[in-house]
Amino acid sequence: MELIYEKSVDGRAGVRLPAGDVPAASPLPAGFLRGEPAGLPELSELDVVRHFTQLSRRNIGVDTTFYPLGSCTMKYNAKALEEGARLFTPFHPMVPLLPGGEKFSQGALAILHRMGKLLEEITGMDAVTCQPLAGAHGEVTGIMLIAAYHKAKGNRKRYVIVPDSSHGTNPSSAAMVGYEIVTVPTDACGDMDREKYKAALSGEVAAVMMTCPNTLGLFNPHIKEICALAHAVDALVYYDGANLNAILGKLRPGDVGFDVVHVNLHKTFGTPHGSGGPGSGPVGVKQALVPYLPVPRVVEGGDGRFSLDSDRPLSIGRTANFFGNFGVIARAYGYTLMLGKEGLIDAGELAVLNANYVLARLKDLYDLPYDQTCMHECVFSASRQLRHDIRAIDIAKFLIDKGFHPPTVYFPLIVKEAIMIEPTETESKATLDAFIEAMREAAVLAEKDPAALKRAPVTTPISRPDETKAAREQKVCHFGC
Ligand SMILES: *Cc1c(COP(=O)(O)O)cnc(C)c1O
Repeated sequence: MELIYEKSVDGRAGVRLPAGDVPAASPLPAGFLRGEPAGLPELSELDVVRHFTQLSRRNIGVDTTFYPLGSCTMKYNAKALEEGARLFTPFHPMVPLLPGGEKFSQGALAILHRMGKLLEEITGMDAVTCQPLAGAHGEVTGIMLIAAYHKAKGNRKRYVIVPDSSHGTNPSSAAMVGYEIVTVPTDACGDMDREKYKAALSGEVAAVMMTCPNTLGLFNPHIKEICALAHAVDALVYYDGANLNAILGKLRPGDVGFDVVHVNLHKTFGTPHGSGGPGSGPVGVKQALVPYLPVPRVVEGGDGRFSLDSDRPLSIGRTANFFGNFGVIARAYGYTLMLGKEGLIDAGELAVLNANYVLARLKDLYDLPYDQTCMHECVFSASRQLRHDIRAIDIAKFLIDKGFHPPTVYFPLIVKEAIMIEPTETESKATLDAFIEAMREAAVLAEKDPAALKRAPVTTPISRPDETKAAREQKVCHFGC
């Protein structure tokens, strides 16, 4: 498809303005005007509408397609939440920070405060900050809080332990805060190997980062013991709650020994995401870490009014401009209230049920490296199909032709030819059945006509781009190109 600049026709325009009847004057002082025209594309309104509408139809999103991208929770998000968040668009984020501005910001401050309170209740933590702008940002914030805790206690700590099934952001976040990473392998049951974990623990360990259920979609039955062993050497335990769906209303990380948790509002709590934004990764902590939380804190006075507290000498400081991604937080607040306690429990149960349905209906045709009841996602391996030279990527590409966004492939790294499916709670049985049929068709084709799979996708404008080149040499057009 042509770029919009390539469609430009000299002199074409979307509007005809009447000739001016006042002398031309520049609003800018001399010297501020550009010498040359900006080089904007010249098109009619219809050209522009068709261009962008056609582009949007090539886009794949949850609103158009089932999107079972494991570890990403690409679920449908109710449009009512958009409306709610939009109410705040006229509100400038600077307002609460101006002298006397808190008075004019009570609604926004109430949302920030109440969302924090709801997350405290959901995660079993003592306090929450909604500042971090993504899951990974929440992780860095959480590890900074842990570092501040150890520093204040005079603890000399060097290491952060992560299982080898962890999301890549876990070791990266800990490394960014200055810790060395110790990776513990996964045992035959899909859990962090407990003997190797015990061997890795020492007085120099600052924290253990756990995802539970982990990226294999499996719940670790030993988390209480893992937390207790860490606490015995004054290491804190971090819960990566990016995919909280699986345990919503069933388990609170704070109740089983975790000290810090981040959640992804843009995965579990009603906000669309993808293509890099926008996100929100609130962090909850236990009492011992509260003094270090980012400023300003939104506090509620005895009169029910909200204000900002920046007078917290031990705080790690700000981790985001203003108050984080307020629009995302407002959506999540709406989502949580809309579902209520029973609704959140239903969401979690359906997420787990749907994943187990897919697992049960595909395990005769695809290898299941860790054959157990899963939580919110299941991880297959295309190793059986590899015998016919068919790889996970070929199956993923075939699914595009069938009208589905592919699942996550090649992650978690510990599963060869991984296909990681997270159906989420918002999909109907009919959609799951159609997806399962497409997956089954792919498995049959792998044996009978592997070349057909290798050709996929045939329904897209570009079939198989060189992915490295596509990322490194983007054809992005800007003014003047
Ligand atoms: C998505 C995810 C993250 C990172 O969240 P971002 O918002 O993408 O930074 C961390 N851990 C797990 C398990 C995730 O699925």
